[in-house]
Amino acid sequence: MDKYAFFSMDVESLYDSLILYNKGNPYNSKYSYEELLKYYIELLDKYNIKATFFVTVTSLPICKDILEKALQNGHEIGLHGLNHRSPMDMTNDEFRESIRQGKKILENVFNTKVIGYRAPMFGINDERIEILKEEGFIYDSSDLSFHLALKSGGISLDSYTKDATLIHHYDYFYEFSLAKVKAYRGHMPISGGGYIRLVPWFVMKYYLLKFFRKTDSYLFYCHPFELCHSILPKLKNINKREWLYIHAGRFNYLRKIKRIIQFLKRKKFKIITFSEYIKAKKMQEN
Ligand SMILES: [Zn+2]
Repeated sequence: MDKYAFFSMDVESLYDSLILYNKGNPYNSKYSYEELLKYYIELLDKYNIKATFFVTVTSLPICKDILEKALQNGHEIGLHGLNHRSPMDMTNDEFRESIRQGKKILENVFNTKVIGYRAPMFGINDERIEILKEEGFIYDSSDLSFHLALKSGGISLDSYTKDATLIHHYDYFYEFSLAKVKAYRGHMPISGGGYIRLVPWFVMKYYLLKFFRKTDSYLFYCHPFELCHSILPKLKNINKREWLYIHAGRFNYLRKIKRIIQFLKRKKFKIITFSEYIKAKKMQEN
């Protein structure tokens, strides 16, 4: 049985993060940090791993050149939104227009086809998946199967065919879900975001290794600002927990990602991009 792992990044500004959204912190490009994605690319390139970068269109001025180079190097570009507003806060028409425009802009800027999507704030539901299909997307990677504190409508994957634990498809359309494990009193996401950064490594390592022993698929994602090693700007209207989410665990995050790559390699996972996976599946069918 083949085992698959996918690396991705949600390319957005520090100011786009859920915790700072609508908190009235004025945008300052100096502290936007999209350019830090270069450290993630450096690490991935060292292991010859191709990743998918879900790009927020408003972040393009800062990271266009780096992404262009990454694309030439075999990495993939997907859409993370025209801006970072959750689709769950939009009407269907607004959502359709935003992904149509976003796709078009990315395709023009990078001269590549954009077929993948990850919703800002993981705000996705079945209705929006239908709109994604109608607008020419072939896959989505927003399913958390974990709705804690997030405005996610959730997707009913029951009607999909299961390829692997985290990979489902319905006809030609694929959904790549984020991983979670049973921990403490509920579920803990182990695909990235704040969790891998904030949970003590010996705890996270335990759950990751346990998961890798039995799973056939894994997905990782992070954000550029999480790789920041300098002092973040003074932020207002955030509480202690939110402060911690933004600040903690940034200095050794890359080292943790490196360890995850090493675990996956040792467990013989094939690490490819989402579209490479879909392409390989199509070829198998024909
Ligand atoms: Zn995001």
